[in-house]
Amino acid sequence: MTTTRFAPSPTGYIHVGNLRTALMNYLIARKAGGTFILRIDDTDPERLKEEYVDAIKQDLEWLGLHWDRVERQSERLDRYAEAADKLREMGRFYEAFETPTELDLKRKKQLNMGKPPVYDRAALNLSEAEKDALRAERGNGVWRFKLDHERIEWNDGILGDISIDAASVSDPVLIRGDGQVLYTIASVVDDTEMGVTDVVRGSDHVTNTATQIQIIEALGGNCPRFAHHSLLTGPQGEALSKRLGTLALRDLREQGVQPMALLSLMARLGSSDPVELRAEMAELIEGFDINRFGAAPTKFDVQDLFPLTAKHLQSLPLADVAEAVADAGVPADLAEPFWAMARENITTLADLKGWWELCRDGAEPLIADEDRDFIAEAIALLPEGPFDGETWGTWTKAVKEATGRKGKGLFMPLRKALTGMERGPEMAALLPLLQVIRVRG
Ligand code: GLU
Repeated sequence: MTTTRFAPSPTGYIHVGNLRTALMNYLIARKAGGTFILRIDDTDPERLKEEYVDAIKQDLEWLGLHWDRVERQSERLDRYAEAADKLREMGRFYEAFETPTELDLKRKKQLNMGKPPVYDRAALNLSEAEKDALRAERGNGVWRFKLDHERIEWNDGILGDISIDAASVSDPVLIRGDGQVLYTIASVVDDTEMGVTDVVRGSDHVTNTATQIQIIEALGGNCPRFAHHSLLTGPQGEALSKRLGTLALRDLREQGVQPMALLSLMARLGSSDPVELRAEMAELIEGFDINRFGAAPTKFDVQDLFPLTAKHLQSLPLADVAEAVADAGVPADLAEPFWAMARENITTLADLKGWWELCRDGAEPLIADEDRDFIAEAIALLPEGPFDGETWGTWTKAVKEATGRKGKGLFMPLRKALTGMERGPEMAALLPLLQVIRVRG
């Protein structure tokens, strides 16, 4: 059965980059009728914050990315210790004692000689007595996985055929000197034991994947299918990594971005399919195919979310926005006509407030000098009210007959006099909602 997982580290709020990972894994699982696991990668107690775990869940729920179960790495430490023992028994695990400064020096030397900065495996030559001495001096060493120096190959769902020479990669550290298990082994043990069949993650994980494939094989597990999506860049192709902090999902929510707008964009951006607003998650699931995504960096422009949000809102019945309409101050008996009037004239729901204030308080009239007499004549013809959907039509017809004006010269000055603006909702729909006609004086 298809099983995928989204595996955030709870060290911050999730942003559009993480969302891409979450969404792709979610869509693969749902399309196949499989399982989507939310895995909290919390083996690093220093950087982990419980509030981020809650925030991640809230953000996913807001988007409707429901998970089938939650797993926490901090609750599975014994499983990782067991796997480490197994690797030790197999002779694939060795203790190394270099300090970060020593490693840095080695790297610099290698780079100076034009060599790739790969760990030189000096620790493999240490005798037991030397290790004891180092341990006494420096404390426990780190544990490195001994890679087989061969080519590691896989067919990537996005990048295609990948072949990495293991000799060009340092033996990965899987356990730190203080005993802390690192993500690389924890992830392998989880993916294997939880039957994960498909792993989609960012292309910054490609080297991890190479080493993880060897660890999975050493532990006798089944390799999932891997796909690495490209990194997001800004609209000009600039790196987004520094700005991702400002593209947290909760910030977008604050700005009024609608979930379906965000999902519609992120489920297709960087693929050969066009970005189109979808009404339902089911449509995104149906049309999703990881193989249609390209390896090139993907441009993301936060501004693209607003037209999609506006379009989504336009399509909604009052029932879906009743709370926001009420919050804007609209009385219940006017909610239906108010929404019908405003829906095509908002970018986000926050704009409802402005339209309601216009209805409630009327607008400061905007009248050009040359229109003063015309407006006075027109207003004299405006019936007392209450107005209905016909009022605008019958009134403007009467004004046209009385003044001889027509077209834009007729309608625009009336709109400006009543709303104080040159553009806005259909006047036929707006007029019956105007509680005050300030131009009447
Ligand atoms: N916690 C890792 C990350 O956030 C997970 C990577 C993976 O999907 O394996 O980068």
